[in-house]
Amino acid sequence: METVTTIAAVRAKIHAARSGGARIGFVPTMGNLHAGHLALVDTARQHADLVVASIFVNPLQFGPLEDLDAYPRTPDADRAALEDHGAALLFAPEVTEIYPEGTALQTRVSVPGLGDVLCGASRPGHFDGVATIVTKLFNVVGPDVALFGRKDFQQLTLIRRMVQDLAIPVTIIDVPTARAEDGLALSSRNQYLTPGERARAPALYRALERAAGRLVAGDNDHARIVADAREELLAGGFEPDYVEIRSRDSLGQPEPGEPELVVLAAARLGRTRLIDNLALTVNAGRTQP
Ligand code: AMP
Repeated sequence: METVTTIAAVRAKIHAARSGGARIGFVPTMGNLHAGHLALVDTARQHADLVVASIFVNPLQFGPLEDLDAYPRTPDADRAALEDHGAALLFAPEVTEIYPEGTALQTRVSVPGLGDVLCGASRPGHFDGVATIVTKLFNVVGPDVALFGRKDFQQLTLIRRMVQDLAIPVTIIDVPTARAEDGLALSSRNQYLTPGERARAPALYRALERAAGRLVAGDNDHARIVADAREELLAGGFEPDYVEIRSRDSLGQPEPGEPELVVLAAARLGRTRLIDNLALTVNAGRTQP
């Protein structure tokens, strides 16, 4: 696997591969890779001849009081893991390569309807930062397919929408959430948890499972289900930010009787904000990780 740090070098490498007829798969990440990221790389290999990964901790998607500086950076281990999983090219630019004039950009990409709700409501500007960097990375790499995790369900939905609205010529493929054995969704931020918090953290997934189970079984009292999940989180020592039942495709409020749903939650455990979600089909007895 080759590592490059400039836009020009990525373009040159990809141009060469593409003229040989290779299909390009792209996995954008912020590094500190775990099994969830690597599942994206594995899936990319099934859809592409050449897998390009990027590692870039994007300052534009962090709020002023968020963990940009503390965000875990493990470049050597990341490179080894990507190589192990068959990535061919790593793009790991410095901030100055991506934002040579700083982050006070003239141009931003915004998907207001989807970017302002749920996590966007408590993280203003976050999804503009995501949409802007993903657009820029798509323009640099020019992938045929790009892979995103269901773990960040709102991000996935927003990127699908952006790609459709802006006619970006890429196919978005989603990958199930990789979880620890106790159900906790893998996340680079899990390492902020103290041992006591880590032991309590799977309660988030359990609350979602219980809510999804009730919905699958036909319980349509969404307000009650959400209130019970919040209570469960509070009892588990979480400070819930939101628990919501939404339409799976649009993330809008579901119509009565709508079968394709997703339960999403964000909650703070100590200083760590955790998110998770479960997609489900009502009465079909099925939930998706
Ligand atoms: P990040 O490095 O957190 O920006 O994540 C990069 C990509 O990995 C995004 O598409 C995430 O949705 C995906 N991802 C992160 N955690 C997981 C997980 N536990 N399972 C599957 N995908 C994940």
